[in-house]
Amino acid sequence: MVDPTEEIIEAEESVIAGLDYWRELPVKQQPTWTDRVAVEAASAEIAALPPLVFAGEVDNLRDRLAAAARGEAFLLQGGDCAETFAGATAEQIRNRVKTVLQMAVVLTYGASMPVIKMGRMAGQFAKPRSSDTETRGEITLPAYRGDIVNGYEFTPESRQADPRRLVKGYHTAASTLNLIRAFTQGGFADLRQVHHWNKGFTSNPANVRYEQLAREIDRAVKFMIACGADFEALKRTEFYVSHEALLFDYERPMTRIDSRTGTPYNTSSHFLWIGERTRDLDGAHVDFLSRVRNPIGVKLGPSTSGDDVMRLIDKLDPNREPGRLTFITRMGAGKIREALPPLLETVKSNGATPLWVTDPMHGNGLTTPLGYKTRRFDDVVDEVKGFFEAHRAVGTHPGGIHVELTGDDVTECLGGSEHIDEKALATRYESLCDPRLNHMQSLELAFLVAEELGADK
Ligand code: PEP
Ligand code: MN
Repeated sequence: MVDPTEEIIEAEESVIAGLDYWRELPVKQQPTWTDRVAVEAASAEIAALPPLVFAGEVDNLRDRLAAAARGEAFLLQGGDCAETFAGATAEQIRNRVKTVLQMAVVLTYGASMPVIKMGRMAGQFAKPRSSDTETRGEITLPAYRGDIVNGYEFTPESRQADPRRLVKGYHTAASTLNLIRAFTQGGFADLRQVHHWNKGFTSNPANVRYEQLAREIDRAVKFMIACGADFEALKRTEFYVSHEALLFDYERPMTRIDSRTGTPYNTSSHFLWIGERTRDLDGAHVDFLSRVRNPIGVKLGPSTSGDDVMRLIDKLDPNREPGRLTFITRMGAGKIREALPPLLETVKSNGATPLWVTDPMHGNGLTTPLGYKTRRFDDVVDEVKGFFEAHRAVGTHPGGIHVELTGDDVTECLGGSEHIDEKALATRYESLCDPRLNHMQSLELAFLVAEELGADK
C-alpha cells in the first residue's frame, strides 16, 4: 500500500519542481549579479521571512476582479513607476493612498459602482530597461534597474547590482504595507473623512469639483446616520497591493505553498503582472506566473496579435477562472482605436472573459528637447476615451484603469488644469523612471473616467 504522507510529499515535490521550471527557460531583464553566493544567501534569508500577504486576501481579490470582468466593479490601480527606498516615508505613502482613495470616491460616486483599490505599492522596486547600460558622456555604466537591484546615482559603486538590496526590498515592502493596512483599517479611510483627504488650492477646477462631490457625500452620509444606518462598512476599506513580477531572486523566495490547499501563492503581493518586455509565451516569467494562484496581469502593447492573446489565456488561465487573468492594454493614444477592437473581438468570440484594464501611460511617452521623459495629459485622456470606445463598439466591459501617479505636487506630465508646460517640468521632476500624474492630474482623470463609466450605465 502507498503511504498517504509519502503521496503528499511527492505531490509537493512536483509542485516545487514546477515552480523552478523557469530556470530551464530563457529569462529576460535580470541583473548581472557578480556575487552569486551572496544572492543565494539573500534569497534564502527572504524565503525564511514571513509572507507579506495572506492567501485568503489573494482569493478575495480574485473574486473582486471577477466582478470587474463581469462589468459589476471597476479596478483602480495606481502608484509610482518605480518605488524607491527613500520614498517609503509616512508622508509619501499617505499622499499616494489618499490620492487613490479620492479617485475611488470620485469613481464610486460618479458611476455608482464598487471600485477595487490597488496600489502599485509595497514591492514595485524592480524595473525592466531597454538597455543593460547607460552612457553619459564618456562613461558607460550598468543601467538603473530599480532600488531592489542597484542605486540610481551614476557612479560605478552605486550602479553595481547589490544583493543586500533584495532583503532591504522585502523590509521596505513590509513597512509600506503595514502603514497602508493601518491607514485603510484604522479610520483614515473612513468615508466621513472625504473632505480631509483633499489638499492644495481650492481654486483648481479639479479640487473645486472634488469639494462639491465631498459635500454631497457628506450630506448623504449624515442622512443615513440620521436614519440609523450601520456605518461599520464605511470605516474601513479593502486596499490591495501589486507590482511587476520581474526579479526572480525576490519573487521565487516569496512564493510559498499554502498549507490549506497545497498550492503556491506569491506572498510578496496580492496581484502581480508581467510586463510588456517579458511576456514571451515560452519565457521564464509567463511559466513562473502560470503556476501561482494569485490573480495576474499581462501588459499588452500595440503589436500584440489575437493569437498571442489566446495563447496567453491558454497558458495562464487554462480553466478560464473568473478573476484570474487581467489584460492591461498600453497601446498609445494614436493606436488604441485600431489595435484594441480586434483583440477584444478575438477573445470574445473564443468565449474567454478576462478583465480588461487600460494603462494610458506607457504607450504615450515622449522626451522633450531638454531631455525630460514626459507624457501629455491630453494623450492619457485620449487613450482612456479610446479604451471606452473600443469596448462599446465590441460589447465588452471596460474594467479598470492602471496609472502611474503620486500624491505629491510634482511636475512630470505635461498639461492638465495647471497647464504644466515644458519649462515647468524642471520645477519638480522627481521620478527616477517614468513620469507620473500629480495629485491634481490624477483627480482630473478620475472625473473623466467617472463620466465615461456613467455614460455606459
Ligand atoms: C511599467 O508598468 O512601469 C512598465 C514598465 O510597463 P510596460 O511593461 O507596459 O512597459
Ligand atoms: Mn513605468
